[in-house]
This record gives sequence, C-alpha cells and structure tokens, in this order.
Amino acid sequence: MEREKLEFDVLFVGGGPANLAGAIHLKKLSQQQGKDIEICLIEKAVSIGTHALSGAVLDPRALRELLPDFKEKGCPIEETDLRDGIFYLTPGGQFRLPYTPPYMHNEGCFIISLSKFCTWLGAAAEELGVNIFPGFAGVEALYDETGRRVVGVRTGDKGVNKDGKPKSNFEPGVDLLAKVTVFGEGPKGSLIREVGKKLGIFDGRMPQVFETAVKEVIEIPSSSPFLRSPYTVLHTFGYPLGLNTKGGGFLYRMKENRVSLGLVVGLDYEDPMLEPYQEFLKFKKHPLIAEIIAGGKVLQQGAKTLAAGGWYSMPQLAADGALFVGDSASMLNVQRLKGIHTGMKSGMLAAETILAAIVKGDVSLATLGEYRSKVDGSWIRKELYAARNFGQALSQKGIAKFFSLGAQFFTGGRGLIDPMKSHDDANTLKPGLFRSPTPVQDLDGQLYLDKLTGVYLSGTKHEEDQPCHLLIPDKELCVTRCWQQFRSPCSRFCPGQVYEIELEEGGRPRLKLNPSNCLHCKTCEIKDPFKNIIWTCPEGGGGPSYSIV
Ligand code: SF4
Repeated sequence: MEREKLEFDVLFVGGGPANLAGAIHLKKLSQQQGKDIEICLIEKAVSIGTHALSGAVLDPRALRELLPDFKEKGCPIEETDLRDGIFYLTPGGQFRLPYTPPYMHNEGCFIISLSKFCTWLGAAAEELGVNIFPGFAGVEALYDETGRRVVGVRTGDKGVNKDGKPKSNFEPGVDLLAKVTVFGEGPKGSLIREVGKKLGIFDGRMPQVFETAVKEVIEIPSSSPFLRSPYTVLHTFGYPLGLNTKGGGFLYRMKENRVSLGLVVGLDYEDPMLEPYQEFLKFKKHPLIAEIIAGGKVLQQGAKTLAAGGWYSMPQLAADGALFVGDSASMLNVQRLKGIHTGMKSGMLAAETILAAIVKGDVSLATLGEYRSKVDGSWIRKELYAARNFGQALSQKGIAKFFSLGAQFFTGGRGLIDPMKSHDDANTLKPGLFRSPTPVQDLDGQLYLDKLTGVYLSGTKHEEDQPCHLLIPDKELCVTRCWQQFRSPCSRFCPGQVYEIELEEGGRPRLKLNPSNCLHCKTCEIKDPFKNIIWTCPEGGGGPSYSIV
C-alpha cells in the first residue's frame, strides 16, 4: 500500500508532560540559536491532555526552568497552599504520623489537574510552532535499511472494520520520518515495548515495575470538614491494602470545592482475587475519607499505571535516531510519588542533546548517548539515585519494609542491600488462592460508583467497528490454565470491566471482551500472569476523555 510520507527534523511520540516540555524547549533553544527545526508531536488521544491522568502534586522545578513566566502565561494551578498529613489507616480508624519524612514534604509544590496542565502545555508548544497532530496513534517504529537506526513511526490506519477490512472511510496511516524520534508514550508504551525488544534497551536492567491507580475528582459540599482541615494533602497507608501489598491512598484539595482522590496499588501483589477497583471503593468508605466526601458527587473517574521501577529499571536512554523520556524511561520518583517534574526535565535534556546532534549532523547513538550523561549530571539523578531502593523496600511484606526504609533513610538510599531486587509484576500471583469475591455494597451511582459508571465518567469512547486492540495469542490458555490457577485475574485487575468471565453449562468459563471500555491504563499487559495480553493502540482518537483529573 502506498503511504504518505512526511519528514520532520524531530518527531515526539506521545503528548504527555515529558514530550511537551521537550518540544517546547527544543523550539525555544533552536529559535534562540537562529536554527529552523521542524518538530512534529503526535498523540493518540483526540486532543492533547485527554489521556493525561495523575494525582497530581507538581514540583514546579522543571516548569520554572522551561517557562519561568508560567503564572503570567495562565498555567492552570488548582492549589498552592500545600500542607501535608500522612495517616495510617486501620479498618475503622486512623492515626496521623507525627513525623513527615523530608521527601514527602510538598511545600512549594502545586496541585494541578494533569489533563488541564497538558492541554495548556500543548497550546504553548503550538504557539511556538510545534506541529501537533492529536488523534494519531503511533503503531510501528520505522527503521533504516540496517534495521538498527530508528527513522520515524507509522501511524495507525483509520476506518478498518472488525475483520481488518477497509471501510468506506478508510485512511491509511502515514509514515512520519525524522532525524530523531523521541518516545514519551507514558508507562508501558506499546512502541517502546517493540523497540526495546529489537534494540535491547532493557537488557541487563531490573524489571520494569508498575503500580496502578484508580482516581476520581469529586465535588464536595462546602460543609465538608476537609475545607477547614489543617491539611490540603493527605496520604494514607495501611487499610485497605494492609502491609503486605504495596500502595496507599491520596486526597488533594482542588479549586471550586473539588478533591482529587485515588488509591495506588503496587502490581507486584500476590493475591489473584485482589481487585484494585474494589480496594479503591473500600478506601472511599473508610471513615476518614467517607466523612470528607459525604454529600459529594464524582465528576470524573480514570485509571492509569505508574512506572515505579526507578533508577535501576531505567533503560538505555538512547539508540541510533531515538531517545526515551519520562515514564517510558522509568523517570518517576516513587519516593516522592512524583514524576511530572522529572519527566519534563528528561524531555528538556533530550531537547538539548537533539539540538547539538542535529547541528553536528550526527544522530547516531554515539552523539545521542550524551543524553544519558546529561541525565546523570542533572538533579534527576540526585533525586532518583537517593530513591533507588525505595520501591523495592515497599514491596517487602509486613514491618520488614520499615527496617529497610529506615536503613535507606540513614544511608542515602543504599539501605541494607544495594541494589535490592525487584520482581516482574507478571510473576507474583500465587496460584490456588481462591475465595468468593465480596464486592463493596451500597453503590449509589453518585458518590460510590460501579466500574461501568466509572467508565462512563471517564468519557471513554472507541469506534466500535474496528479490530480488537487487545491481542490474546492463546485464548484457550485463558479458560484452562489461567482459570484453574488464578480464576482469570484479568476480570478483576482491569478497572474498565473489559474482561468478563461467563460460566457456560458444565461450568466451563468463557472469556468475553469489551474493548470499547478500555481506559488505556495498561494494567492487563503488565499483570497478566501468562503474559498473554498484548495491548496495541486502537484507532487514533479513541480512549478516555479526561478534562479535570
Ligand atoms: Fe486497562 Fe487493559 Fe483494562 Fe484497558 S483492558 S482498562 S488497558 S486493564
């Protein structure tokens, strides 16, 4: 098939904060040096920001470096008065930790909505002359004749029916060619997965490790005690996950009597019956949270994974013709529960490397490899290296984690063992641990939602008549070994109710897929115990439609 080819100097794949910061910085630097660099940025969402979801407390360090006049330029900030409270939750009560570790202090940070923030960054990039193409999903990396140098990305065909046949509105994907391609697809990107396999960028690193979060923005009544609380930022641990499962809750104050509420669950959990969405509902029903949100209404819901592997999971950051930034490159600081600032800084360092490489006329690994030295010489390394064993310590069971965390606190992150090992999230479920599910009761469709109402409030939409974007190479395995050993955990870990198990006569399970519900969180590809789910990009423009989360 003849495909249109478009050529640019630099192609950014993904419209998250890392790539947007990279594109803005590159455009500004090149303009300062009187160079004309053609930049293209593609995003699979229908518009920039509508797939962006995070807590989100923003450390403005990178933003200040990128756009020092961000306030004058109307950067959307929800709250600047950040006062932290950390609580340990028991099933019916809580106590506040008398001491907040320095890395959990958020003074000077801002609460933002990441979707609004990315929309704003996208507009700033466009104003500088970056060519932004939303609604275009990168589906395949392109290589030169050696097969080792990345030369761009192919976008997905549009107008293909369920059987893979072109419809009347068929539009073939475009080959976007560039001297340098920057992959900033967020956690568990589908292109970086394939590039990684081909070029070996993950070889010799610790496994990529993830957490999954379910989050809501809730409008609370003006009588809510939270509006008169000494805290604007709450973090919790303990109930409902206990001390054997990594994760915890958060609640942040936003503008207009809104709060951002979420629960993060480490995907190295062992219990195949655990359902992150149900844990989130339990968290909401805890007295500390229930009292704050009583009488409120959920405005938007969403789910996303976090790349929580940290320093030792960071892949090779450059290849011939390519760089990797943000969550795709494991830049999140799990100790501070923040990755927007490190992602943005990584994009900016990538931009500086690219400009120098283009001026030199050499975009090989030998020159682009300078990006790694820049990361090593920046505050990204200082932050991530100090937290290099933090996530692994949290993964320990019971109170053992507190000994490890304590040792790390007094040794600058080294702790008792350095490096501490992390485990592939797909391999941690324990077979045979079955029990009947006990879903949270009394859902009211307003404040306490079932999964499908949550999907509705995420604004998720996909073209129905298109090939299923969830590839399951061995369907028989789903209803045999996976059912027998784990009772089909996909039907629980997916927050979008995409996977459902129906029992046929005789008790044989049947897997039913609802791919249109997909929130693009990637939990299924990460946690499937047989690695039998491959997430690919659906037709561009499909997916959630976040605007305030
Ligand atoms: Fe997330 Fe996978 Fe479910 Fe989509 S199908 S919502 S990516 S777990």
